[in-house]
Amino acid sequence: MIIEKRAEIIKKKAELNKEENELFLEMIEKDSFDLAFIDESVKNIYGELKKIIKCEECGECCREIIVVFEDEDLNKLAEAVKEDRKTLEKRLFQKYEKFNCFVMNQSPCPFQKENLCTVYDYRGTECRDFPYLENRLFSEIYRYVFQGYPMCPYHFSVIESLKEALQFENLKEGNFGS
Ligand code: SF4
Ligand code: SF4
Repeated sequence: MIIEKRAEIIKKKAELNKEENELFLEMIEKDSFDLAFIDESVKNIYGELKKIIKCEECGECCREIIVVFEDEDLNKLAEAVKEDRKTLEKRLFQKYEKFNCFVMNQSPCPFQKENLCTVYDYRGTECRDFPYLENRLFSEIYRYVFQGYPMCPYHFSVIESLKEALQFENLKEGNFGS
């Protein structure tokens, strides 16, 4: 299994592996692999990663993801930070009519302090779901995992460990430049 927690290494490797990852993603999309095997492998990999990767030592997603709150979440947050709901909404969010949700207007998230969330029990939808691997099958969310690869140690390590499990190193030789 491949585990990487260092943000600077992850960013560098994301640049280096860009083309390779595009090919890997394309092969997954074209059903080149057994999806049931992939889902089972990722479940096991994630289980092992949880023993080693600690979000409180990282906090990258709070500095980089688009923070999304739903209407009810925003009511709870306003109550928690003791701010008028309308004022909080105007100060920190923009309404996204199409999806009936609220997107934070700044990044990094101002509720993060030293990698930790100061409003943890009142955090938004996206904050709760990220990195998506807890309750969802990889085959349902793999595009998000590829998107998170340059930032999230979970996403990076899942993709790299999956490449290893699928012996992608050997397979890619026949696909590059063909
Ligand atoms: S979900 Fe990923 S990016 Fe966010 S804190 Fe945890 S390891 Fe870091
Ligand atoms: S609300 Fe908390 S979990 Fe969500 S982005 Fe901000 S600091 Fe991170």
